[in-house]
Amino acid sequence: MFETAIAGSLPKPAWLAETEKLWPQWKAQGPELQQAKADATLLWIKAQEDAGLDVIGDGEQARQHFVHGFVEHVEGIDFEHKVTMGIRNNRYDAQVPQVVAPLRLKGRVHAFEAQLARKHTKKKLKFTLPGPMTIVDTVADRYYGDKVKMAMAFAELLNQEALALQADGVDIIQFDEPAFNVYMQDAADWGVAALEVAARGLTCTTAVHICYGYGIKANVDWKQTLGEQWRQYEQVFPALAKSSIDQVSLECFHSHVPPELMKLLEGKQVMVGVIDVASDTIETPEEIADTIGMALQYVAKDKLIACTNCGLAPMSREVAMAKLEALAQGAALARQRYGG
Ligand code: ZN
Repeated sequence: MFETAIAGSLPKPAWLAETEKLWPQWKAQGPELQQAKADATLLWIKAQEDAGLDVIGDGEQARQHFVHGFVEHVEGIDFEHKVTMGIRNNRYDAQVPQVVAPLRLKGRVHAFEAQLARKHTKKKLKFTLPGPMTIVDTVADRYYGDKVKMAMAFAELLNQEALALQADGVDIIQFDEPAFNVYMQDAADWGVAALEVAARGLTCTTAVHICYGYGIKANVDWKQTLGEQWRQYEQVFPALAKSSIDQVSLECFHSHVPPELMKLLEGKQVMVGVIDVASDTIETPEEIADTIGMALQYVAKDKLIACTNCGLAPMSREVAMAKLEALAQGAALARQRYGG
């Protein structure tokens, strides 16, 4: 009961990349960089296990950014000539590569870190991929001329990699779709369908993470404009409830999401965000157990997973480590309180 997991990303050590940045520059090149990525991955596997988490991830140490880490391995994309584009409905500008030709995978994308992680943990292994809709919102299209068509093309590539990750021994494949909270109608109309293409044929557990973004200033400012009640999930959850996706990860603690929206996910496993990623304050076990207790009004005991609101990539290592420990302690307290 109340398994613990992180949304996905963890801070990169200073010897691997620039710290506390969303698009950090690597500190090494070639084989040296590959070794540094492997070392950082192992370090975080050990740290998650030591903290007492039940589901372990690679902390996304081998990718520069959660979207571009995938896109870099796709043919038909011009990474040499990036353009500035407003992303997430112009919430912030990003330097994005351009789609210039039909999309095809160059080969495996995440074999190195997935196989490494599998070899070094006996716990459940979760691996994250960007969702098709969020990828489409983080690249400039100069070829397809149609968002849905391009999303479906990316979904096919994601499916190819997801099936290979499953063969590597990954237990849970999670697609990250922060764009679902920005383009809610599109998400319901075709985003969930694209997600199901990406997850087609998987027999491992499948998940989707939908959040209000990393704890960066642009996102914190955006949240100020969303009013007293954040009801974005309300438009997407019904479509997800009907989908084949097994788990849904959502923001909860310190958010203005009305918790009763979790009821819309009946039948699904729900990863409830009990850790705030926009604050360096470490949650107490009591606060975390309280959040779990509140969520239990809407989510069945055996379907609740305690999770972070989003990735921890832009935080300091010390804060992230303390938050992992708090997460495990808070879930343990919740088991004592509500286990009977
Ligand atoms: Zn997120």
